[in-house]
Amino acid sequence: MNLPQSETVEHAKTADELEAVMSDRVEELDALIVGAGFAGLYQLDRLRDLGFSVQLFEAGKDLGGIWYWNCYPGARVDSDHLVYEFFREDLWWDWYYSERFPSWQELRRYFHYVDQKLDLSRDIRFNTRVTAAEFDDERRQWIVHADNGTVVRARFVVLCTGFASSPYIPSFEEGVENFAGEWHHTGLWPQGGLDFTGKRVGVIGTGASGVQVIQEASRQAAHLTVFQRTPVLALPMQQQRLTKEIAHQIKQKYATAVSRRGETFAGFHYDLIDKSALDVSPEERQAKYEELWEYGGFAPWLGTYYDLFFSKEANDLFYAFWRDKTRARINDPATAEKLAPTDPPHPFGVKRPSLEQFYFECFNQDNVELVDLCESPIERITPTGVKTMDGAEYPVDILVLATGFDAVTGGLTRIDIRGTQGLTLREKWADGVRTYLGMGTANYPNMFFVYGPESPTAFCNGPTCAELQGEWIVKCMEYMRQHGVTRIEATTEAEKAWRKQIDELTNASLFPLADSWYMGANIPGKVRQQLNYPGGLPRFFQQCSESAEKGYEGFVLS
Ligand code: FAD
Repeated sequence: MNLPQSETVEHAKTADELEAVMSDRVEELDALIVGAGFAGLYQLDRLRDLGFSVQLFEAGKDLGGIWYWNCYPGARVDSDHLVYEFFREDLWWDWYYSERFPSWQELRRYFHYVDQKLDLSRDIRFNTRVTAAEFDDERRQWIVHADNGTVVRARFVVLCTGFASSPYIPSFEEGVENFAGEWHHTGLWPQGGLDFTGKRVGVIGTGASGVQVIQEASRQAAHLTVFQRTPVLALPMQQQRLTKEIAHQIKQKYATAVSRRGETFAGFHYDLIDKSALDVSPEERQAKYEELWEYGGFAPWLGTYYDLFFSKEANDLFYAFWRDKTRARINDPATAEKLAPTDPPHPFGVKRPSLEQFYFECFNQDNVELVDLCESPIERITPTGVKTMDGAEYPVDILVLATGFDAVTGGLTRIDIRGTQGLTLREKWADGVRTYLGMGTANYPNMFFVYGPESPTAFCNGPTCAELQGEWIVKCMEYMRQHGVTRIEATTEAEKAWRKQIDELTNASLFPLADSWYMGANIPGKVRQQLNYPGGLPRFFQQCSESAEKGYEGFVLS
């Protein structure tokens, strides 16, 4: 069984470490990168190529980021394969996934392929979790500590800790520690795997990971109990097996579109339609919805009429389409009402719409039971299963927590990073996250975030941001080196203005109408605010470029 990481990992500095830091025994780097997913690996390769002395610390035993940890049955990518890889010519054209939406196993093979081509591992220290960092203003360096006693000094720290590296486990009156069977969070799945065959399995949570694990468990488990709080408005994946020839043809067809992914709202090879759903005839709209449905993936979400995110009326039209399509697949009307309610539980698309292959059909099977937690929430986890408030008990052998993450900020705030005022990031952001361009925050000089808070992150395809946002940081560090600048820090004014822009964009949209992890609403006590930049990539990168062109306006360089 996996215990979650404590929220803030207290770092006990040993006498040896302290002595090392004070003396000159500590290794000095130009840059330390944290995290070996798409973002960190991109930084490592680029900075090393530019002649920076750089090392990458990774908590896991292998590279791949979330694909190292999220190896639960059914885990797979929801982005189309052709955008879910680095777009570097020599990598992109030589790699072919065997499925349109590849599995975690294939993702791992991909990362090993990248490692082999770019020889990244030689500069990665695995099993090295960064626990603390403090800034030495005199030497303009971060002193970084890891859980295995490693200490380094680095001019720059680039935090590529991902938006989903801090698994969230809800607390009940009595929690999972009470359970006598085996339990796992999907984001900390046992590397050796786990067989559901013939077992009674309970899955708490029906978000993206929940949908995937439920589908697999429904095929293997003797009995599967699904605990649902909010129905997931999942879209059809339209999975496809790909031969190398077909994958090559697809790449040829979309190479230009992929090269221009930064010009789309969410970094895909397609974009929102620059038209209101209300400005077209019902026939035209229906035909478009059908076309997007058939294409599959996120197309009905990120390739549809732009006002899905702004107009309740337009949103309701798509919800009705989704609901009718979905209900047609569910045999029992009462179950259908729970999975695809007559009225939308929230506007479509303001919570992440997962992709599914046969999710709704699972509930037609005799071995699958749906428990609606809106009717009766979980009271406690017992040694043998789950008990709900109405007194019902659901015995299970294996309990799966598909309960999500302290998303976007959790991977950062659980590190004891102290800025120039002595505050940790957790303390600084206690009343709300603040950054400039989602890449730097005041009082934390020479520290950059990729795919973190207040950048497009959850609204951006992962590798797209790793490359395009990551390149801005690389260029910034190169600029500093060329100009003899050794310190960069976001200004408080710039981060206030950035927050204001994010709030204005969010308030003009339907996002505030759902309790989503986008809004920090899945974690008790977390400030409710938009954690991502919701204005789309073109608008985001335009402002990043403008700042750079003006000598990194919004930052103080010295
Ligand atoms: P990650 O891949 O999350 O890597 C972060 C790494 O940092 C991890 O290896 C972690 O161990 C390491 N780390 C964290 N803290 C520390 C520390 N203190 N010290 C050392 N190492 C640390 N995005 C999409 O665009 N499309 C998808 O289809 C998609 N599917 C997803 C499915 C799942 C199940 C999950 C959880 C996420 C998915 N995402 C998807 C989002 C995903 O995070 C990004 O696609 C991508 O992996 C981001 O890469 P990254 O390098 O920023 O972070």
